[in-house]
Amino acid sequence: MNIIEPDFPSVLLIYTGGTIGMIENPETGALEAFNFDQLEENVPELKRFNYRIASYQFTPPIDSSDMEPPLWAKLVKIIHYNYDNFDGFVILHGTDTMAYTASALSFMLENLSKPVILTGSQLPIGVLRTDGKENLITSIEIAAAKHPDGTAVVPEVCIFFENQLLRGNRTTKINAENFNAFRSYNYPSLATAGIHIKYEYDRILKAKNNLPLHPHYVFDTNVLVLTIFPGIQEKLVNTILHTPGLKAVVLKTFGSGNAPQKEWFIRLLKEATDRGIVIVNITQCQTGMVEMARYETGLHLLDAGVISGYDATVECVLTKLMFLLGHGLSPQEVRYEMGHCLCGEFTRPAL
Ligand code: ASP
Repeated sequence: MNIIEPDFPSVLLIYTGGTIGMIENPETGALEAFNFDQLEENVPELKRFNYRIASYQFTPPIDSSDMEPPLWAKLVKIIHYNYDNFDGFVILHGTDTMAYTASALSFMLENLSKPVILTGSQLPIGVLRTDGKENLITSIEIAAAKHPDGTAVVPEVCIFFENQLLRGNRTTKINAENFNAFRSYNYPSLATAGIHIKYEYDRILKAKNNLPLHPHYVFDTNVLVLTIFPGIQEKLVNTILHTPGLKAVVLKTFGSGNAPQKEWFIRLLKEATDRGIVIVNITQCQTGMVEMARYETGLHLLDAGVISGYDATVECVLTKLMFLLGHGLSPQEVRYEMGHCLCGEFTRPAL
């Protein structure tokens, strides 16, 4: 007799660390990372899922402030090795650098056709008022969700937090205290979890189902972020732009991409781009797009060889630069690719 295994949805939980995976030591009151086996004890609701849920745990778990590109590569390796065995992946991650990891993974997992959902919490899962249970349970449900034809509903890297499913490379942490800790200012949410999970199908990326997953592992971290401010000094900008090995700069400018018109400032930027340093302009505003041709101040930046980051987040531009430079692209090639949307990371400006 042939026994046909029921086709249960399957999800791989990857626990990297962060508040979500902590419980309060009843004796000392201190937060301690718990063993993943204790998860089911703290979240008995998991048993009510008719899903096959397996887990992988970083040992030791890390605070996400210690997240590094080699650990992004480790996550990609875990997902790649287990890709055919699961319908989706949930990564439990500290909230502090979750947006960087989500952005990096969106570039590293080329041709992704399954959900990769990052989530975490502001209160540990073992605490009575925790937001972690809700975030975890709904993330698992989203990671397993499929269309009637068997394809994934959300074949992209996302962050799920406090009822909102957000595109990972559009998201920023905005609150150190509230449960509502993440925002995607320049792209609307992909789903909202209420009584039902309401998916916004037309906002979700379409998978290239005929193409196999192409994992990438390389990064070049010779990049930095330069935030301008009134009173910024020539000698400091000069030193920063002459940092040995520097290959790219994320320049955080005012408003729609404006910067001081001082001769020395534009000259230093021009000299840097002439040396092959890629400089990408993004705004310090939370919402909106860089339009360098709008004001004279922005035009000077264009003339200095600065390129637009459009409405992308700093986490996204930084990790995309690291990713492109890691592939050994020339400055011209990096500049070209920064203007191309690889996985929904910026809005194309209206012509
Ligand atoms: N410091 C923690 C982390 O990012 C905070 C959190 O998990 O929310 O790992």
